[in-house]
Amino acid sequence: MGSIQIDAGTVIVGDGTERTDVQIGVQDSQIVEVAENGLENSYDRTVDASDRVVMPGLIDAHVHLDYPADPDQLDITGLSDEYLALRAAELARDALRTGTTTLADVASRSTSIFSLRDAIADGVTLGPRLAVCGGMVAITGGRATGGYNRGDEGVIIEVDGPDEARKEVRKLLMYHGADLIKLAATGALSSPHTGARDAQLTVEEMTAATEEAHKCGRPVHAHCYGEAGISNALDAGVDVIVHGQSLTDDHIDQMHDQGSLLVPTLATFRKLEDRMEILGERERPDSSGGVREEAVPNFKRALEAGIPIAAGTDCGMPEVYHGTNPVELVHYVDLGMTPDEAITAGTLTAARSLNLEDELGSIEPGKYADMLILSADPREDISRLTDSDTVDRILLDGEFVEDQL
Ligand SMILES: [Zn+2]
Repeated sequence: MGSIQIDAGTVIVGDGTERTDVQIGVQDSQIVEVAENGLENSYDRTVDASDRVVMPGLIDAHVHLDYPADPDQLDITGLSDEYLALRAAELARDALRTGTTTLADVASRSTSIFSLRDAIADGVTLGPRLAVCGGMVAITGGRATGGYNRGDEGVIIEVDGPDEARKEVRKLLMYHGADLIKLAATGALSSPHTGARDAQLTVEEMTAATEEAHKCGRPVHAHCYGEAGISNALDAGVDVIVHGQSLTDDHIDQMHDQGSLLVPTLATFRKLEDRMEILGERERPDSSGGVREEAVPNFKRALEAGIPIAAGTDCGMPEVYHGTNPVELVHYVDLGMTPDEAITAGTLTAARSLNLEDELGSIEPGKYADMLILSADPREDISRLTDSDTVDRILLDGEFVEDQL
């Protein structure tokens, strides 16, 4: 490690503001000073980005590294934990190459995801920062266990009753240092025996889980499609509503009052539009139908109501390939966000959804030095973030990624 001074023409701070002609001082893994009129410390080397745009590294608050996004590889039953860990490391690097310097993995089959997180943090292997939950807490037989998708066994931690929920969440937090807790408030498109809209964990179960997570300062993300499940999750005090189908105006009011965030996973829903034929064979249309039709108006209503939106793609789900993470921000702009707001969704608000806003998500002293140097301003055209020619250099933890390959 060492120290770097970056002379930046334009800085997109990450909180919706910008600064011009600034110097950024990086010592080891941290940003130590940002100034317009010269830095106080001296640095080992200077990087001239005076004709460039510098922004925080992107954060994707919702991916699945156990799955490679190939619809034919949804069954992971036959794969060893070691195989999954090696593949996850490779898939995580696909995201890093796009400038996504932090990923939240929101349900993995084995505890090897914790080992991968730690190995990356220790510099054993190169990858983006990982915030991981381990397994997803769900009811017995819930979410995607059983049926055609038996490979999901183990991705789900089955609980019945608040005491079991509390115990399993404590194990995740205390044994493994889970960075967040993921709860299945409803079924899913991939659930064979219940519909996506059917409520699963009870308010009492989710309340117990949330209490334990909050004691450790960890956020709770609730997977939610149907209306009753969203109500249950909000009544339990979860921090983040994920997917949020059937989001009613009452839910939006309650989210506003409670300060909840929304992770809309539009990358997946827009892909679903192409995939409904395949899913149609597996779904119970009575309870799952209409999911995609709701995604767009729900997003717009939440945006208009000022609900904080944190970027999360669901990369790893069918045809949502790892390394396409920034496309989520393009969808946001297509549906009415300003590019500035979309960048905040993919940086500071995504950090907030992981309780990491004091460490990540903006270019400010005290934060980790995760930054992108861009050859063009993505606020003029957000799709530039999906173009590898625009993302010139990637600084992760105070070191340029390309220097470590
Ligand atoms: Zn997901």
